[in-house]
Amino acid sequence: MLNGYMDLTIEEVETPVAGEDEIVFKVMACGICPSDVRRWNGNRNVTHKRILGHESVGEVTELGDKVEGLEVGDRIVRDWRNTCGTCYYCRKGLYNFCLEAETLSRLGFLGGFCEYSKVKDPVYRKIPDNVSYDEAAFTEPLACCINGIHQSNIEMGDDVAIIGCGPIGLQLLQLSKARGARIIAIDLKEDRIQLARKLGAHDIINARDQNTIQTVKDLTEGRGVNASIVAVGGAIPIKNGLDILDYEGTLNIFAGTYPKTEIPIDPNPPHYKHLKITGSHDFTPHDFSTALKLIEKGIVDVKSLISHRLPLEETQKGFEIVSKQEGLKVIIKPHQ
Ligand SMILES: [Zn+2]
Ligand SMILES: [Zn+2]
Repeated sequence: MLNGYMDLTIEEVETPVAGEDEIVFKVMACGICPSDVRRWNGNRNVTHKRILGHESVGEVTELGDKVEGLEVGDRIVRDWRNTCGTCYYCRKGLYNFCLEAETLSRLGFLGGFCEYSKVKDPVYRKIPDNVSYDEAAFTEPLACCINGIHQSNIEMGDDVAIIGCGPIGLQLLQLSKARGARIIAIDLKEDRIQLARKLGAHDIINARDQNTIQTVKDLTEGRGVNASIVAVGGAIPIKNGLDILDYEGTLNIFAGTYPKTEIPIDPNPPHYKHLKITGSHDFTPHDFSTALKLIEKGIVDVKSLISHRLPLEETQKGFEIVSKQEGLKVIIKPHQ
């Protein structure tokens, strides 16, 4: 339970009961997302006590009367984003901006760092037999990355820079590679860059001791990259992402930046070079389905991104690990 600033405690709460269109599940795994950490460390406001965690998977233990096509014992992954399908943006196909998503998703939402949680029918997917709970817990972050790729205008053979090789950057890397891109992975931490190499990066840059802009230019015959995806918040990586673009290149500001900042930009390069500056956030229901499929078919390796599996009692420790970037993906496992 998040009580306030950096204050997570274990509390006994009522086991959730399934309403007529709800499914109760025993949480088997829930990933810690940087957005959870931001609520914990005060970068984002939390106005009430709550159980965090939106990347949860588990085993169905109770079904509401109206739920069909699911049985007790089934393995599911919860899609926390519930969209209405009828608002202006849903009808335009822009489910990311559903006007009702906030309200619908909050209604009766229980977090994932707990023993039992629930989901509204039909906002879940069944987990394929060959996918473990821990892997399925990546469906949500991977769906966000798929959405990010849609915004990044990557063509086969393009040069793509992934700036920031945390769990998100390493998923974006694999997706860009699946699109046929040549990948340049950039980070400050050597272990992350080495894993980027293992997961398919063609070139790696340690920005601590190499000049990012010059090295990228050297690696691309002086042109720069067609797309740079910035998977870390902060003015410097975003500025670098813009400065390494070739003509017609796209900068995708994938990560939020906290605390808030401003970046001075010379407007001439975007003007003269046809540069595009975009961002991406959340995902559509189809991205969510696609994410699970990419895990099932082995197109994206998420297993290699797990650095810690912790019991519920060590959730606070998990948050500390994520905020200090001491590992990669931390998964909380309320039941072993
Ligand atoms: Zn997340
Ligand atoms: Zn809508």
